[in-house]
Amino acid sequence: MDVTLLEATDDPEDLICKAARNDYSDEFVGGQSLEETMADIEGDTIDEKKETLIGHLLSHGHFGPFEHAQATFAVKGVSRSCMAQITRHRHVSFDVQSMRYVSFDDVDPEAVREGELVVTPPSATDPDWVGRNQKKSDISEAEFEKRTEIFKDTIEQAVESYQELLELGMPPEDARFVLPIGTKVNIVMSMNARMLMHVADMRAAADAQWEIRQMTEEMLDLAADWCPKTFEYYEREMKGRKNRLAP
Ligand SMILES: Cc1cc2nc3c(=O)[nH]c(=O)nc-3n(C[C@H](O)[C@H](O)[C@H](O)COP(=O)(O)OP(=O)(O)OC[C@H]3O[C@@H](n4cnc5c(N)ncnc54)[C@H](O)[C@@H]3O)c2cc1C
Repeated sequence: MDVTLLEATDDPEDLICKAARNDYSDEFVGGQSLEETMADIEGDTIDEKKETLIGHLLSHGHFGPFEHAQATFAVKGVSRSCMAQITRHRHVSFDVQSMRYVSFDDVDPEAVREGELVVTPPSATDPDWVGRNQKKSDISEAEFEKRTEIFKDTIEQAVESYQELLELGMPPEDARFVLPIGTKVNIVMSMNARMLMHVADMRAAADAQWEIRQMTEEMLDLAADWCPKTFEYYEREMKGRKNRLAP
């Protein structure tokens, strides 16, 4: 998978601070410099003041101001299974690569065995991998090899059948019904900083699946560069706490 930041609000933490200061100020924040808006906040520099205010907001559960800062991520090559999980989040906006208008007719089915077009879960190729909800982990080498073979044969066969159906004149939107749920998809998604923290609460958690966890961790890494005080606080003080319903 590949996760990149496509676009994001400039100076997101200036905006978060301005929005929050609006709530408790008898002055109008419109037209004020950031220094004026932050005059009453503790700290010697504007950077320290931002740190103080952002920490205060997050520690008190005053999350609204974080909705003003928005980021758009482009994600390449996650499974349609991972897509089904992330698209459950209703305050995220999505664009998803179409299987109606994009057909995978030039993919070599043999390359699919090695990771082309379909995501290979670690449990298919790593004998030591123990996933959640795994009923049986003490399998023999022969059993593991069989597992790998069944997985790879099945995805190769599915892609072969898909391409045969295309050749027989079936439209891609119908032929896709035979493709596996592990088929790769590219996604563009936009969310605000509050929502990203909520997604991370649920999807970077230990009980989330490895793939969506990896995607979420990569979004958090990008967010730490984009909106550093917020996501450093989140990482240090909030991440991994018991899921909150609506942070
Ligand atoms: C480990 C794990 C396992 C899961 N297993 C399953 C499963 O087996 N089957 C399944 O169907 N789903 C499953 N889910 C999905 C889960 O139930 C949620 O639908 C999904 O995570 C979206 O999160 P959310 O409910 O916080 O809503 P979001 O859409 O992310 O919304 C954010 C918050 O806004 C509020 N909100 C949004 N819409 C409403 C509304 N209509 N009414 C009231 N409040 C609202 C809620 O406070 C919510 O927490 C699983 C999720 C995880 C993390």
